[in-house]
Amino acid sequence: MPPISFRAGVDMDEIRKQFPIFEKNSLIYFDSAATSQKPKKVIDRMSQFLQEEYGTVHRAIYALAAQATSHYDGVRDKVRQFIGAGDEGEIIFTRGTTDAINLVAASFGKVFLEEGDEILISETEHHSNIVPWQMIAQEKKAVLRIIPVNDNGEILLDVYEKMLSSRTKLVAVAHISNVTGVVHPISEIIRLAHGKGSKVLIDAAQSAAHKKICVKTLDVDFFVFSSHKIYGPTGIGILYGKKIWLDQMPPYQGGGDMVHQVTFAKTTYQPLPLKFEAGTPSIVEAMGLGAAIEFIEQIGLDRIEDFESTLTEYAYSKLRKIEGLIFLSDTKEKSSILTFYFKKYHSLDVGTLLDIKGIAVRTGHLCGQPALARFGVSSVIRVSFAVYNTLEEIDRFVKALEEVLLLLNSETN
Ligand code: PMP
Repeated sequence: MPPISFRAGVDMDEIRKQFPIFEKNSLIYFDSAATSQKPKKVIDRMSQFLQEEYGTVHRAIYALAAQATSHYDGVRDKVRQFIGAGDEGEIIFTRGTTDAINLVAASFGKVFLEEGDEILISETEHHSNIVPWQMIAQEKKAVLRIIPVNDNGEILLDVYEKMLSSRTKLVAVAHISNVTGVVHPISEIIRLAHGKGSKVLIDAAQSAAHKKICVKTLDVDFFVFSSHKIYGPTGIGILYGKKIWLDQMPPYQGGGDMVHQVTFAKTTYQPLPLKFEAGTPSIVEAMGLGAAIEFIEQIGLDRIEDFESTLTEYAYSKLRKIEGLIFLSDTKEKSSILTFYFKKYHSLDVGTLLDIKGIAVRTGHLCGQPALARFGVSSVIRVSFAVYNTLEEIDRFVKALEEVLLLLNSETN
């Protein structure tokens, strides 16, 4: 077994110890693509805030609220730095990736889409990056077009390039597909779209915890992700948008905090980012998100990527030896998501039996029914890694999988 627990000055065994869930539990958790476990730092920060510092933001003049506001604004700045954005006004707190995509679809769609315009998404998107576009396309009589992928789940760039035209108003693709695990060539996708005057939204739900990203270098128009997949709490996520577009977009929801002045006749709105943040926000969750970003940055995304790619390569090398196992995708550049299925066994049976052995893997359609249909399957098994996983866990998982298959085989014979 290659020695990877200590790498480039970071002891990954020590990192794992920072996750209380693994102290009391011998669970093998391989579903971080759905949601990641939380380090003590995040739990402690939220708890400390609730116990000692809790107050509302942006509303009251008393010291407690002023301090909470300063912490809350501090997290926004942390997010800005984390993704390399220039202006704090470009960082909008949302409820998560889904909420952020819905915001862009509804608000951008209202001003930038006209009848006959086109929105492009790829064939392997999460339902969250399909349905909001369907809804706005229907409303505006725009057309939703699907960029095809090859049998390995890779976007067909030549076909994509030909699909782009002056009618294309927005291209929305995942950085990493939650279904196939394929890393999409987003720089090229953005460059080609901009060449035709289209804007681009990148769904970074599956990449923000795994890859260093700079929205300025990418020149991306919109960039979205969820806190709960990057070691933070649920209930909060991020929309980054270029100021030039956000300024032209109308508010998504109306309510407190987002207004400048309200009369019964007319309301004026706050400048960015508050224009898009109606109502009391997820203050406690924001504290957790700030701590999660600190946690990631203390390890360093380069090291995380290096560590996780070792886990992924190791898992692929082991799983390739299992008879009848079919990978949905096996590309050169890999993420820490591996998806596979068996013709002979139902994925749900495999997942249930693995669960009995204390191994949590994701099974089913992975919120990607059209993506699975592309591969002619309706249910798969997905294994995904994060900083707390180990090579030893992969060994135990492969052994358990072999036992499960043996059992299922004896039942089918
Ligand atoms: N896009 C992708 C690629 C995802 O993996 C997910 C979550 N599985 C989402 C969007 C939706 O994220 P959330 O449920 O946190 O809004």
